[in-house]
Amino acid sequence: MSKQTLSFQAEVAQLLHLVTHSLYSNKEIFLRELVSNASDACDKLRFEAINNSGLYEDAPNLEVRVSFDKDAKTLTITDNGIGMSQQEAIDHLGTIAKSGTKDFVSKLSGDQKADSQLIGQFGVGFYSGFIVADKITVESRRAGLSAADGVRWISGGAGDFEVETIDRAARGTSVTLHLRDDALDYASAWKVKGIISKYSDHISLPILMEKEEWKDGELINPSDENGGRQPGGMVKTGDWESVNKANAIWARAKKDITHEQYDEFYKQISHDFEAPLAHTHNRVEGSTEYTQLLYIPSKAPMDLYNREKSAGIKLYVKRVFIMDDAEALMPTYLRFVKGVVDSADLPLNVSRELLQESRDVKAIREGCTKRVLGMLEDLARHDRLPEAADGEVTDVLSAEDKAAAEANAGKYTKFYNEFGAVLKEGLGEDFGNKDRLAKLLRFASSTSDTVSVGLADYKARMKEGQEAIYYITADTLAAAKNSPQLEVFKKKGIEVLLMTDRVDEWALNYLNEFDGTPMQSVAKGAVDLGKLQDEAEKKAAEEAAETFKPLLAKLKEALKDKAEDVRVTTRLVDSPACLVVQDHGMSTQLARMLKQAGQSAPEVKPVLEVNAEHPLVKKLDGSVHFHDLAHILFDQALLAEGGLPADPAAYVKRVNALLV
Ligand code: ADP
Repeated sequence: MSKQTLSFQAEVAQLLHLVTHSLYSNKEIFLRELVSNASDACDKLRFEAINNSGLYEDAPNLEVRVSFDKDAKTLTITDNGIGMSQQEAIDHLGTIAKSGTKDFVSKLSGDQKADSQLIGQFGVGFYSGFIVADKITVESRRAGLSAADGVRWISGGAGDFEVETIDRAARGTSVTLHLRDDALDYASAWKVKGIISKYSDHISLPILMEKEEWKDGELINPSDENGGRQPGGMVKTGDWESVNKANAIWARAKKDITHEQYDEFYKQISHDFEAPLAHTHNRVEGSTEYTQLLYIPSKAPMDLYNREKSAGIKLYVKRVFIMDDAEALMPTYLRFVKGVVDSADLPLNVSRELLQESRDVKAIREGCTKRVLGMLEDLARHDRLPEAADGEVTDVLSAEDKAAAEANAGKYTKFYNEFGAVLKEGLGEDFGNKDRLAKLLRFASSTSDTVSVGLADYKARMKEGQEAIYYITADTLAAAKNSPQLEVFKKKGIEVLLMTDRVDEWALNYLNEFDGTPMQSVAKGAVDLGKLQDEAEKKAAEEAAETFKPLLAKLKEALKDKAEDVRVTTRLVDSPACLVVQDHGMSTQLARMLKQAGQSAPEVKPVLEVNAEHPLVKKLDGSVHFHDLAHILFDQALLAEGGLPADPAAYVKRVNALLV
């Protein structure tokens, strides 16, 4: 084929115009694109060679070489991958084959500003070379063709390109960029190395550059800008060295990766010194293909509770680094997870905006969420050592299983202590996984001081006739434990979950039931123990309510500014009174929290419940101090649940008056 000049497809010309005019603010990406093409070409060769090993010719080691020539002002990326035939060069480097990109170009409005925002969302690939080059020369020879079937492709990136046949012994492709005057700094080893390690460290092929040495490199002045070397500069040595780590651990088979290597990689990407608690590594196939390598850290970061904090997932597309902190890949409540997602389907130039909308990304996020939950379920399952009938663990487990069980025991507890509060945010954020999340929750309870009671454990221990899972929220464990609302439950031996995380109140709004059993706050609504109460107790309660009617009316009147209602209760045993809120009202604790956080909270007037059996309550009627006693009763109930009287000084005065 003699030299011929061909026109670019209209869309290519349009794309080229855009690339050169709107991507100059992020010039360096061209190298990522070209290295990625070179790496793809090697992948393709490897694939075709599966059935035709002759394609390797005499160069079985696939590699990418990057070289530059300062004098000629060129930068060249060479690969020994599949290469291109003449027709392929014309087709692939003159048209846009991918329908997505074609579609995209056809949508371009011609309005440069709007278009330049769009372009960030699509892979511009080979053509990005024109960001830094005013001329590109491609020389290539397809694997399997003869040396005489090489092709040279040259273009200035305007309307057309030239192709001609050349002799080329080497298989594969070299792309030579004739650098623009404002891009000459890309003809420098440190600049190029920096970009490669930023974007392409995890390309599994070696990316080689020729080693340089200082010519007559003795130190003359250590503080000058050349590092104290002769200005004679660097000279090439003829030795090539790999400049990328070529270590895409996630792309390797699980069985070839040691535990230490997994841990080491975690430390590298998380900048954490401690080994992770667990990891999950999977290749997901199907309509969206990706690999995930996700870790759960051992320790929570300082800013765990900052929901604005960046996520810990790095996004790669075909082993090329795209971005850090890809928050779209993981829900906010799993923001502590660190790791890598490598997608085969997203375009290299994917932007954060596109990530938010992409269907592939949505599928990836769902897949990652499921995996993390699965990993947590595993940890939870192995948190406690298995118990044999007689507690003889050794007999039921093989030595290997026993070691594994011991290695995993306690991990979930550790996880939960660090991240449990954040996990709970998921109840309100991720409805689809609510049931799985609910099973992962752990609480302290009236029978367990440690945060270790799961809802399923609780259910399994429920008393005959018990119809609800009872819980109480409070600021501290001590306040929860000693809360007057718990008295009747203690008396009857009914377990109550004690919730002391700030997020509990909010999260519980989203969890009305667990596995068919309603969740019931013991501080909300009238206490209804249902079948747990016997007939005699019910009758006594009704009678008390009747005889106390006049007293209740008086109390109500005295406390009308503070209490929504006053009623007799059966929930108290030792305390004279307690406060509860209406069934669907905001708890006093949540209202208090909102106020502390400076947010507006609706004024909640609680209900005062009094214990008809308590001597103080019995003494109320007819007391000359009725008014003061009524207020003391109310304020003490508030104090007992960790609140503060609205007017503490008045409270103190009243108590003192009585004491005197
Ligand atoms: P993409 O790589 O996203 O398909 P590009 O514009 O980067 O788009 O490249 C267009 C096509 O040119 C590629 O699909 C490939 O067929 C061919 N190509 C580009 N670079 C090389 C290379 N180094 N070796 C072989 N073929 C290449």
